[in-house]
Amino acid sequence: LALCCWTAIANAEYTIYKDPKRPVNDRIKDLLGKMTLEEKVGQMTQIERSVASTDAMTKYYIGSVLSGGGSVPATQASPEAWVDMVNSFQKASLSTRLGIPMIYGIDAVHGHNNVYKATIFPHNVGLGATRQVTTQDPVLVKKIGAATALEVRATGIPYIFAPCIAVCRDPRWGRCYESYSEDPSVVRSMTEMIPGLQGDIPANSSKGIPYLAGQDKVIACAKHYVGDGGTTEGINENNTVATRHGLLSIHMPAYNNAIIKGVSTVMISYSSWNGVKMHANRDLVTGFLKNTQRFRGFVISDWQGIDRITSPPHANYTFSILAGVTAGIDMIMVPYNYTEFIDGLISLVKSNHIPISRIDDAVKRILRVKFTMGLFEHPLADYSKTKYLGSQEHRELAREAVRKSLVLLKNGASADAPVLPLPKKAKKILVAGTHADNIGYQCGGWTIQWQGQSGNITSGTTILNAIKNTVDPKTEVDFVENPDLGYLKSHKFDYAIVVVGEPPYAETFGDNLNLTLPDPGTSIITNVCGSLKCVVVLITGRPVVIQPYVVQIDALVAAWLPGTEGQGVADALFGDYGFSGKLPHTWFKTVDQLPMNVGDRHYDPLFPFGYGLTTEAVKAN
Ligand code: BGC
Repeated sequence: LALCCWTAIANAEYTIYKDPKRPVNDRIKDLLGKMTLEEKVGQMTQIERSVASTDAMTKYYIGSVLSGGGSVPATQASPEAWVDMVNSFQKASLSTRLGIPMIYGIDAVHGHNNVYKATIFPHNVGLGATRQVTTQDPVLVKKIGAATALEVRATGIPYIFAPCIAVCRDPRWGRCYESYSEDPSVVRSMTEMIPGLQGDIPANSSKGIPYLAGQDKVIACAKHYVGDGGTTEGINENNTVATRHGLLSIHMPAYNNAIIKGVSTVMISYSSWNGVKMHANRDLVTGFLKNTQRFRGFVISDWQGIDRITSPPHANYTFSILAGVTAGIDMIMVPYNYTEFIDGLISLVKSNHIPISRIDDAVKRILRVKFTMGLFEHPLADYSKTKYLGSQEHRELAREAVRKSLVLLKNGASADAPVLPLPKKAKKILVAGTHADNIGYQCGGWTIQWQGQSGNITSGTTILNAIKNTVDPKTEVDFVENPDLGYLKSHKFDYAIVVVGEPPYAETFGDNLNLTLPDPGTSIITNVCGSLKCVVVLITGRPVVIQPYVVQIDALVAAWLPGTEGQGVADALFGDYGFSGKLPHTWFKTVDQLPMNVGDRHYDPLFPFGYGLTTEAVKAN
């Protein structure tokens, strides 16, 4: 009898889904079979950190928590404090009946950008420039992915909403800098970021299976599916007008590659395609992404994405839930009024408006990601990786990325009279411009704050400090942000470096129909370049109106949004390394030419797509 009862107890304790040795499919089947409708709907619900609590996690079986861009709480918090915060939600999830771990997600779109002292890499537009015209430098983006993964894991987070694989067809779009290029093949090649983040998929794995190589990697999210970069006049979240062939050939190739590389999640775009909201597009989400492309990870909505299916947003939330879940969205970034979502979805299932098979499909996909990433075995983070946050090695990598991202647009009046590289030895040089000594401006949007910020927002090297670090110790460096003509005439400078550009912005706030350099950028260029030999460095997320000033400028460099490692700019200006970057976007002459993309019939750019002068490194340096 004793033997029989001991065996019974042992059997009772054995649960298939908890056994990592069992195939993932068996674990999913076992767990799904044990779940109530409430538990399933909870898995499909992602809520914001500011409304998450132990109670919410346990009462509603919440499947995921995020730090939204606009509401990251303690950006100055130590990595250990982040780990503790994430673990506190996780412990609540683990205490539920089935103990299904939640997954925490964050926007780490150019390094771990919400977190103080993290390494901030160039925004995607800069990475899209790190290439020869056709042979890109995917190894670099892969390394950046791996470094980002380590820094994100340093704060206990296993999931990021990146990479953005938008193909920006119009620089008036406020998210153009989140796009690697206007060219589908450049964007496609940059999906090499995904194996950097998640690790390389095993050679024998079948297409579309989500993947994570280990606990120092993070789950990636290809976004925003699909056509986000194709909206009319670049208006954010708007309508992309395209034939099916146009949509598939321009905006889809990067998704095909992302899925081949095992991307675990895909985020739906706010935008519409030919008037149909992507969040309600069953044909493209279920039909194409899940069935044709065989994507087996989970599909996540954007922030209040289903709300925006109706106009005005949230006008008929029940309809939004029905349309979004029916389209094939598996996890809903709610993120605030989660009880309204949960109650709404449960009622729709109970009233047979949504079949339970659709719910099961969603939950299976979420569980597949959670099982494959080892979340059940490693739900809690520790402090062992905190040393990676902002490490010297990662800063060196970011510096390399910065110098490879620089595009040299003009270098002297002719090829035989180059201005760059600049001599390190000079009596006196002038550094001017609003963006010369401003880490926040260098980083752009999605840094510490959703909209970015001006000033000393995190640790790094400003371009001014980088110049000072690089020139000969005897060279005098004067910095005046906006020097007047009197000052310029009364001083003797060998040359000037002017650093100007756009202020930070994100999403719709960055939509801009005129793309002029904001004041006082152009007057600084005019005054300084009218008085001195000058190099202009542009800090922008996209091409801007520059044609009227090019004649006055002796050398012109597009530095995009380089991030914290401004040293990379000085490395190239002074010839420690050569310039090699190529334009990822067509540089227009006037905004009325837009949209204008490589291959267009009337292509008449100021600088064509792929343009970029080169210089050799100076051996003696
Ligand atoms: C953006 C997404 C982002 C999400 C979460 C949305 O506003 O469109 O790109 O991942 O917020 O912060």
